[in-house]
Amino acid sequence: MTDLYRLLPEEMEQLVMDMGYQRYRADQILYPLYYKFPKDISEIKQLPKAMREELAAAGYTIGSTQEIHRVVSEDGETMKLLLNLDDDTSVETVLMQYPSTNPLGHPRSTICVSTQIGCAMGCVFCATGQMGFETNLKAEHIVSQVIHFAEILQQRGQHVTNLVFMGMGEPMANYDEMIRAVRILTHPRGFGIGQRHITISTIGITSGIDRLAEEDLQIGLAISLHAPNNNLRKQLVPTAGPNSVEEIIEAGRRYFKKTGRRVTFEYALMEGVNDSIETAMELARLLKGNGSHLNIIPINPTAGNFKRPSSGRVLKFEQILIDAGINCTVRVEKGTEISAACGQLRTDIVG
Ligand code: SF4
Repeated sequence: MTDLYRLLPEEMEQLVMDMGYQRYRADQILYPLYYKFPKDISEIKQLPKAMREELAAAGYTIGSTQEIHRVVSEDGETMKLLLNLDDDTSVETVLMQYPSTNPLGHPRSTICVSTQIGCAMGCVFCATGQMGFETNLKAEHIVSQVIHFAEILQQRGQHVTNLVFMGMGEPMANYDEMIRAVRILTHPRGFGIGQRHITISTIGITSGIDRLAEEDLQIGLAISLHAPNNNLRKQLVPTAGPNSVEEIIEAGRRYFKKTGRRVTFEYALMEGVNDSIETAMELARLLKGNGSHLNIIPINPTAGNFKRPSSGRVLKFEQILIDAGINCTVRVEKGTEISAACGQLRTDIVG
């Protein structure tokens, strides 16, 4: 069985030509896939009936995503779904909406996609990390998360504007399937979202960062740093061993040099762990002069025993970095109360 959402437009073209049909038939499959969201090949009425039957007989399908749980935040701006995929695995995925500044404009609709079920990286403050690793998602299952939300948004007259690969899992640990999904989602004859509207987030796997830099893509990179030195980082990200803080900073610099895309460092701020004045000063020294952006994220309530620092402490931490000339912001989290924010995704919310 091959899910049609797995195929790049060039592969779709090859498929129809191998079946003895003309090249344009590929677009008669691609357009409905990304704009009409058929649930079965028989619903692609632009194709001759015989061709639909041949595709199905050859083992091509349209993979289904069954929504088995939905939670919406009180303000209606964050929606977390638990989706059952056609291989009977379940994955969480989140939609975050930000109202437009123009009263007549569409909201910014960002989907936070998952690339794995569970995660092997074991970050001690992350609910997904505490689940352990279950499996890598196939490209079609990454694409399907976006398609599922695209259909929901289309019914409201809205559309997907941004994608962040910050859901469950470490994208670089499932590199080939992740990048196939990115190519399908950004292809003008596929889902067609702009490359600059995508951000890949990594815990700092430098080999993956270097590989991504060579892809000739204009996508954003976010690196989860969480600590300015290796001792502290090892406590928070137990698998950080192979890549030191210095190596990660260097990999970010290489990415920026190669792609021209500014790198964002993410820093989950935890009371009494990595929020001291000395730590802020050490972080400032580490990031000074490399042109990156720092996102400070006061930790969300998750599995571990970590506490969010008081807002005064957060502001003090931020001010030290600003005073040192670091380009930095405190991220306002969405979805915290429905456990849809960073580090809160896991698949045991039902049952
Ligand atoms: S923070 Fe990211 S890399 Fe770390 S365990 Fe959670 S999902 Fe994995």
